[in-house]
Amino acid sequence: MPAHRPIYLDCHATTPLDPRVLDAMLPYFTEQFGNPASVTHQYGWEAEAAVQQARSIIASAIQAKPNEILFTSGATEANNLAIKGVAEAYFAKGRHLITVATEHSAVLDPCRYLESLGFEITILPVQPDGLIDLDQLTQAIRPDTVLVSVMAANNEIGVIQPLAAIGQICRSAGVLFHTDAAQAIGKIPLDVEAMQIDLMSLTAHKLYGPKGIGALYLRRRNPRVQLAAQLHGGSQERSLRAGTLYPPQIVGFAKAVELALASLETEAVQTAALRDGLWQQLQVLEGIHLNGHLSQRLPGNLNISLAGVSGQALLLGLQPVVAVSSGSACSSAQTQPSHVLTALGRSPELAYASIRFGIGRFNTATQLEQVAAAVLETVQALRLADLAPAG
Ligand SMILES: *Cc1c(COP(=O)(O)O)cnc(C)c1O
Repeated sequence: MPAHRPIYLDCHATTPLDPRVLDAMLPYFTEQFGNPASVTHQYGWEAEAAVQQARSIIASAIQAKPNEILFTSGATEANNLAIKGVAEAYFAKGRHLITVATEHSAVLDPCRYLESLGFEITILPVQPDGLIDLDQLTQAIRPDTVLVSVMAANNEIGVIQPLAAIGQICRSAGVLFHTDAAQAIGKIPLDVEAMQIDLMSLTAHKLYGPKGIGALYLRRRNPRVQLAAQLHGGSQERSLRAGTLYPPQIVGFAKAVELALASLETEAVQTAALRDGLWQQLQVLEGIHLNGHLSQRLPGNLNISLAGVSGQALLLGLQPVVAVSSGSACSSAQTQPSHVLTALGRSPELAYASIRFGIGRFNTATQLEQVAAAVLETVQALRLADLAPAG
């Protein structure tokens, strides 16, 4: 990597591919190119064996069974399949779904789409720390509620929702529980049995795997979840997700999960130490706010807002040194403050002036020191420029 490239601290957007993952994938681009659905020859059998092994690895990482894993193109597709597929399959039972204001747009947009078709959606607010109120969830469940969708860990503020408690509430009310675990898999322990999760969306590229591959966990017993396919055209994945499977990506996904699980605790300690060090150094800044719960968050996440500083100017100033994002979906044409930060009750000003740091496996203490120094310097320069007489 050329030395002049900025330090990468945007691991909630995507992560670099681990070289060990690439090594595992390579044979499936070349000699082992078979279609797993080809049952009449060795090329197909080899590909099918690789896919089955990957399925087992991913299933056991969340205490599921291999036949409960459906491969998709990523978490966006898995969320769409879970939400629309359950809504359609349980249409006769009820047409009410519950989700949360801080969800990823890949959950909120399918819900809004269902609303346009006549479904009713309750969007729960969050507390100032980003956690949902469990009593509010309990009260929101109605006789016609079919699904509760609450993300495992937030992609902007890293806040981890109380999954086991949510699962308990849903199970005792007879309502299905879906969780978008795109940010959580490989970062925190996940257990679909202990947490009573019925559907879970996963993706590979947030845990050092390849882009374009993910999965939906679909519970097959106690209860057996019904799902309506959203993609038709073949009998792959028990006809719930048609389309030729992609063995290189699937093998890479499984390798990434295996590696992340093997070093889950040591990596959590390592990234949390880097994150805490950064936070400690930045705390000297006047008007700094931490967004999201202090400890109930992903180890590599830090999200801050700075009063009286233009978020855009700050990001621009930091660009040569560090690759971060504001965590808000902004483009120069239509700038909207982050829906996650406004859901926490942050003012639009503070929501605009935010930075999301996503620290990962390959970051070092030296890099974090450089970043801290650059942030301190840039903020001070911007504030001095503001004090200078205009003109
Ligand atoms: C990245 C992300 C997604 C989208 O996943 P893709 O695999 O890129 O489609 C969905 N939800 C959350 C929480 C994410 O962080």
